[in-house]
Amino acid sequence: MSWKIVIERGNLGFAAAHFITFEGRCEPLHGHNYGVHIELAGALTRDSYVFDFVALKDITRELCKAWDHRFLLPLQNPNLRLTETAREWEIVYTGAFDAQPIASNAPTLPAPSSDATGATEPLRYVMPKETVVALPVDNVTAERLAEHLAMRIVERLRQRLSAMPTAFEALTSLTVGVAETEMQTAVYTLDLRNLAKATS
Ligand SMILES: [Zn+2]
Repeated sequence: MSWKIVIERGNLGFAAAHFITFEGRCEPLHGHNYGVHIELAGALTRDSYVFDFVALKDITRELCKAWDHRFLLPLQNPNLRLTETAREWEIVYTGAFDAQPIASNAPTLPAPSSDATGATEPLRYVMPKETVVALPVDNVTAERLAEHLAMRIVERLRQRLSAMPTAFEALTSLTVGVAETEMQTAVYTLDLRNLAKATS
């Protein structure tokens, strides 16, 4: 027998800007009102619940808030050259360039041009650091956001249940869905039983 609790809709989500690189191309900067849903499965506690709904909502809202109204920067993208200064992130796309718009309503990006020294000026963004959340991912896809959010939620669950390790061990899986639009959601499932074994 197993149970799971689900939290979704309401104000679970965040508005953020990103671009992804794929197949040697780079999307122009754009944003989404991302929606988040969480499923947490496990055995029942002695009080007949899996985990406190309110606490799970609080954890998720807090993590979403950290990404709200920010640019999400992938630190491990092989097609980006990143330079961090005291005030800014400089982000330079170094991959292949294809002038075709990625979507019908996306702008056509200018082709790299040569300046007076002959150096190529590729696609480049400079972001104030306050507007950036740097993530340890290779691409800011909904899939990676779901995975990263799942890892962060597990950290918080473990902290909250640190005085009750058996309660953490009773949790079996965590599923996180990140929706870019109402029609497209990426879902990541983390098996907590293997995780408990791996870290015990
Ligand atoms: Zn997007």
